[in-house]
Amino acid sequence: MVRSITFLEAGYTEQLEKFVNPLTGKWRKIKFPSTVAVIEHATAGVILFDTGYSPRFFESTKYFPEKVYALITPVKIAPEETAIEKIKKIGIKPEEIKYVILSHFHADHIAGAADFTKAEYIYSQRELNYFKSLSRVIQVKNGFIGGLLPLDLETRALPADEFPVLLPDLGLGWRGKDLFGDESVFVVPLPGHTLGQLGLYIRDVKGKDYLLVADAAWVTQSYEKNILPMRIAQEVFFQREEYRSTLSKIHELYCKHKQEGRLQIVTCHCDVAFNEMTRTHV
Ligand SMILES: [Zn+2]
Repeated sequence: MVRSITFLEAGYTEQLEKFVNPLTGKWRKIKFPSTVAVIEHATAGVILFDTGYSPRFFESTKYFPEKVYALITPVKIAPEETAIEKIKKIGIKPEEIKYVILSHFHADHIAGAADFTKAEYIYSQRELNYFKSLSRVIQVKNGFIGGLLPLDLETRALPADEFPVLLPDLGLGWRGKDLFGDESVFVVPLPGHTLGQLGLYIRDVKGKDYLLVADAAWVTQSYEKNILPMRIAQEVFFQREEYRSTLSKIHELYCKHKQEGRLQIVTCHCDVAFNEMTRTHV
């Protein structure tokens, strides 16, 4: 059983709104927060979904080719703004974090991962193997900075690449992996943005269900209206057709559940949605 879910911001960058939403977006910069979800489970302990940025990002991007990433994506994060520091502020000790789920291996999701020294990591091993097979230049082009990963990541890993459970509550074609055997937290595959991107389906938190979709949609409007980012912004995606199909699936889910209002879909980088959620949840 999940007792609570809290959303924190761990650093941010900026993005052109038109890139993200070519239909109604303007040529202006919008804030792109890196959202971290803190989930308290009655028996499994505290679980994080993604880890946001950390000053480790600046260390890891000092030199070429990683420096190119930092130049293209100016990151804002102070030492007191990391996920670990914000978690302490809401009264959770770092050692209480038992699991860290990495939705995918882009730098804005993994930079804080090494701060959680007692946790087990849940992620797609297929995706990690793919990134590791690339040269450093191609890794950076694909948003991966290996120096950010905890050195002992794979010795504390619980890979999630198989999804044996059907999820009829969500709809046809949805499958997941039941993380704690109590049907409260399921990892679901959301491929396309990266090879093995994972989402999280959380059932019944005070009468509400959540689907955390990470970067399968960048902002709320994307899945509400099924809007793809501008073509140039899709260059970073692993597989555009798969991304399109995953986004359509989330859009259908949104349409199916919007009247009922029980299911909350949460993206990682939507500043408007983040402000709304933190107003109502924290
Ligand atoms: Zn991201």
